[in-house]
Amino acid sequence: MVQSTDLSQGRSGTIAMSAAAVETSTGNRGLQLEERLIFEYAHADRSGVDLPEPPKVKDRLGGLRRRGAIGLPGLAEPQVVQHYTRLSQKNYAIDSGLYPLGSCTMKHNPRLNERMARLPGFGDVHPLQPQSTVPGAIELIGELAGWLTTLTGMPAVAMSPAAGAHGEMCGMMAIAAALRARGEGHRKTVLVPESAHGTNPATAAALGFTVKPIAATADGRVDVAALKAALGPDVAAIMLTNPNTCGLFERDIREVGDAVSAAGAYFYCDGANYNAIVGRVRPGDLGVDCMHINLHKTFSTPHGGGGPGSGPVVLSARLAPYAPRPWVVHDANGWRLIEEGGAIDGEPLGRLKAFHGQMGMFVRALAYMLSHGADGLRQVAEDAVLNANYVMARLQVALTPAYDGPCMHECLFDDNFLKDTGVSTLDFAKAMIDEGYHPMTMYFPLVVHGAMLIEPTETQSKRSLDEFCDAMLHLARKAKSGTAADDFKAAPRFAPRRRLDETLAARKPVLRWRPTNRGPDDGPLKQAAE
Ligand SMILES: *Cc1c(COP(=O)(O)O)cnc(C)c1O
Repeated sequence: MVQSTDLSQGRSGTIAMSAAAVETSTGNRGLQLEERLIFEYAHADRSGVDLPEPPKVKDRLGGLRRRGAIGLPGLAEPQVVQHYTRLSQKNYAIDSGLYPLGSCTMKHNPRLNERMARLPGFGDVHPLQPQSTVPGAIELIGELAGWLTTLTGMPAVAMSPAAGAHGEMCGMMAIAAALRARGEGHRKTVLVPESAHGTNPATAAALGFTVKPIAATADGRVDVAALKAALGPDVAAIMLTNPNTCGLFERDIREVGDAVSAAGAYFYCDGANYNAIVGRVRPGDLGVDCMHINLHKTFSTPHGGGGPGSGPVVLSARLAPYAPRPWVVHDANGWRLIEEGGAIDGEPLGRLKAFHGQMGMFVRALAYMLSHGADGLRQVAEDAVLNANYVMARLQVALTPAYDGPCMHECLFDDNFLKDTGVSTLDFAKAMIDEGYHPMTMYFPLVVHGAMLIEPTETQSKRSLDEFCDAMLHLARKAKSGTAADDFKAAPRFAPRRRLDETLAARKPVLRWRPTNRGPDDGPLKQAAE
């Protein structure tokens, strides 16, 4: 007998079910169907289209004509539709329910944005169309750029980076170019606080910088004294996230900016947590030299599962000349894209990405901004912070907050409350899946033991936050009862897959499907043993 959540009867139902009862002869469960690779359903002689024989023409391919089969799976249309529909049902999404993944800002994506992005004038433009045929699309990029520079109080923005990490690369390349232009290309050290997102040190290292970690203080913020001590003639930049990944505002950020600038270095701000301060704080007032903005986080364009992101980078006056092309400009002739040339002193950065950036994301982000307005965006930040503090206040009776005091848009717990229970952060997260909740971010930031980082976002109602907190408190009390460790270790029970061997998957990933010979029974193709 286990306690479980029957979604059809509300979250409080208790039903009798043993772990064995979830096994079925087909592997399917409760209309959740098992799904194989599309190649495993394929038959060479099946097709979803009916094409006439091609006309006989003289072969001009020389020796290049394909000899073997092309290897595409042969399927009828209903099989294709069912395959992708089933796959989509395995993908947990913000459209399915609460998605408290910290540092990811999984907020609702308004449908209005989707509608705007599908307008033929935006959805159907081709990046190689002459500029004269797409003035509206260029104006939209320019208008979005205007919102971004106004909101951040920064003079320039590079629109083309395709994600936050790509924006980091853009900003750090601009810093490297500015240093070279100053004749200080020897500055090779980048200071990164210990709580930073992994992309920060990865970006710096990928560009040939040496990463020097800066310790955190006991209250979860960057140690300003340690930072100042590390500044020197070899330091190119600091990469700092604000609010930081512990969900806390770096109160000394002005002092940090001044010290970095006085030491001749640049200040890269990781803006992934901008949702907490949008409309309230202008990074330009904090001494920031450049900051990426994850449109897919703060400005609600759909993300997850490797979908398209967009990471424009706002730049200070001293870095603006090194922005990658293209630039959108507005002058007497209207809106224009500058794709080549442009007077700058140092080495130009060139292009970071094919074409002009993620147009569909631009449309969605601007639709989001226009529908919220400046006051609405400020309220986004206020409500995001309020919701996180509500969750923190409700959960701290049973979970252990990592730091004292209020948080910004996400609340962080450590695993102290699980001490001596035999339950780990990972077990707790797996048990959340059985309760119908996508786990929060775990074991990040690294500075907090067994971290659980919860970001509810402003788009959750009080009711959904309460249901989430109820489930979390139930699990915390169950763990603390001291008798439920085995139950936790067995979770998830109700997911299509139980615990996977994540180490094996990471160390020996099977990345390629190879067919075996098909048998005479015309059965599905099988994956050849590796
Ligand atoms: C999400 C995130 C990034 C990286 O952004 P992507 O768009 O995923 O590349 C960088 N830093 C922090 C703090 C983040 O949360």
